Amino acid sequence: MKNYTGLRILLIFLFFSLNAAAQQQERSQTSNYQNNRYPLISKPFMELPLGAISPDGWLRDQLNRQKDGMTGHLDEIYEAVMGKRNGWFGGDGDVWERGPYWIDGLLPLAYILKDKTLIEKVKPWVEWALNSQQPDGYFGPSADRGSEPGLQRNNARDWWPKMVVLKYLQQYYTATGDERVIRLMLSYFRFQLSELPKTPLDHWTHWGKDRGGDNLMIVYWLYNLTGEKFLLDLGELLHSQTVNWTDAFLTGKLRYQWGFHCVNVAQGMKEPGVYYQQARDNKYVEAVKSGLADLKAFHGFPDGLYGADEMLHGNNPTQGSEFCSAVEMMFSMESILPVTGEVAFADQLERVAFNALPTQATDNYDSRQYFQQTNQVVISRYPRNFNTAYEGTAQLFGPLTGYPCCTSNMHQGWPKFTQNLWYASADQGIAALVYAPSKVKAKVGNGANVEITENTNYPFDESIRFSIKVDPKTTFSFHLRIPSWCKKSVITLNGKIWSEPEGNKIEAISREWSDGDVLELSLPMQVSVSRWYENSAVVERGPLVYALKIGEEWKRVLNADKYGPFYYEVHPTSPWNYGLLTTAIGNPGKEFEVVKRAVSKDSYPWNQENAPIEIRTKGVVIPFWTLYNGSAGPLPYSEQYQLKTDPPVDITLIPYGCTTLRITEFPVVRINSK
Ligand SMILES: [Zn+2]
Repeated sequence: MKNYTGLRILLIFLFFSLNAAAQQQERSQTSNYQNNRYPLISKPFMELPLGAISPDGWLRDQLNRQKDGMTGHLDEIYEAVMGKRNGWFGGDGDVWERGPYWIDGLLPLAYILKDKTLIEKVKPWVEWALNSQQPDGYFGPSADRGSEPGLQRNNARDWWPKMVVLKYLQQYYTATGDERVIRLMLSYFRFQLSELPKTPLDHWTHWGKDRGGDNLMIVYWLYNLTGEKFLLDLGELLHSQTVNWTDAFLTGKLRYQWGFHCVNVAQGMKEPGVYYQQARDNKYVEAVKSGLADLKAFHGFPDGLYGADEMLHGNNPTQGSEFCSAVEMMFSMESILPVTGEVAFADQLERVAFNALPTQATDNYDSRQYFQQTNQVVISRYPRNFNTAYEGTAQLFGPLTGYPCCTSNMHQGWPKFTQNLWYASADQGIAALVYAPSKVKAKVGNGANVEITENTNYPFDESIRFSIKVDPKTTFSFHLRIPSWCKKSVITLNGKIWSEPEGNKIEAISREWSDGDVLELSLPMQVSVSRWYENSAVVERGPLVYALKIGEEWKRVLNADKYGPFYYEVHPTSPWNYGLLTTAIGNPGKEFEVVKRAVSKDSYPWNQENAPIEIRTKGVVIPFWTLYNGSAGPLPYSEQYQLKTDPPVDITLIPYGCTTLRITEFPVVRINSK
């Protein structure tokens, strides 16, 4: 009897699972966009093809600056590696990650801007990769050559650089539908399935083992397009050969210094969320959350990144964070946001994009920092207390200061951010999960075309206006993310309040939409104070972190060694050693005055001059807090009291992303009443 009951439960279970599988398959066939195929979990949101989303306003300006700067011209600026000799271009030069890194940013930039010149520039790279495939399925450069200064000419057959090429071929396919991509990938993945047991991901270098999640996500993408079952076997194999990030995140292994490399952590952050699709176990999503929480607690900075000047290095705000960490953390969040629909991952994405990202490159995109500091009071050639000093060049702005990975990899940041502003939703609707001025064209309902213009100066503005064009009238859901920092939002439809959802949720507005409908989302931003290293205070407002505005003097220095032909130093022209007042941080709503500046909406917002918002408050100079070893000296513990100071003076904070020199983590000073 007992066995019989067990069998019946099993049969019922099987019936429901098969039914669910059939339904999932059915859904993915009838929807406008390809969802996961069974047995992968059904995703709440799906990526739109490259080109469906266009930037507007400041974001378009930002992408144009990339086009006119290093991104559009790296073959000239960094000719030795990115020029005709590159191995991924058929030459005898660099065969490793750098060429692929650049194209992984240039290609989405080209197709998002629909820029003919840039498209012509990326095409030969795509063609060479597609035509390089050998009969056994291998593709890419295969010959190792002798070393040459500045070039990586060995480990040609390494799995790792190919993971980056797979990413740009996937993007190229969504932009063009070129079926050769599918044929190449099927053949290469069969090759991987047969070769990986003999030559695992770390056979040539360890990077493939650290970054296997990037390989895995493309395998699932191809499985969804083709239904080839061997890809699921390859998925398990890749996951098993990749560093066990899930355990590392769940068992506190990020809590220590030194253990992990900065960029590997940023890339590894996606792996459990990617594998979750096949594992169908929520533990993998929890692992990502746990990893992010440990990074924040033990190495965290308020810009969403962490102290890791190569290896994890604690949360002292004068430690460095690498440009590659910023763009890879963003891409990890972009990769798992549509899989999970978790607001926390979108919040983390915006935090990095709107704070860390804009400040690490110059406005005209001719230079970048390898490491940035949260408290950064002078940019100069000096070793500092970084894990790797790069002869003192690591924190300078230059095309080749520090190490060239960032020169090559930084380009993906803004284009992929643009591409992830909008998604299709599994219920045949549309979703805005991350905000910036943009326009999207997509299919909704039973295939109706919708065009939505997102008009805003977010993250500086609190309101976002969506104008909808749809013909004919169509019923669909419009999903909006309400960030967790927002207490209560207001959604207005054609001038009337529709709902007032609280933060940390995705609100679906389901109705019949007509041409000309206007939906407005208001996300009220309040000044708040968070506490960090040595109990220091950080001023935040909405998605933006604020930092002390310091006078800057920029100096272009000509250079003759391997760190590039020039770099910029930036020296302070006003004091930086301020503490905030206990009385102010106890009453942020009153003691911090938010001033919206009258700057033109057409001006580039990410600098001191054009910062659209200022926060004014009082601060006191802490005389003993001085420069030490090229950085702001040890951060005075908060709070400081019985300190003899001069009277408080007016100070101005601006968005972190608008600063170059800054104090972000402030000591707090209690002024004696007598
Ligand atoms: Zn880098």
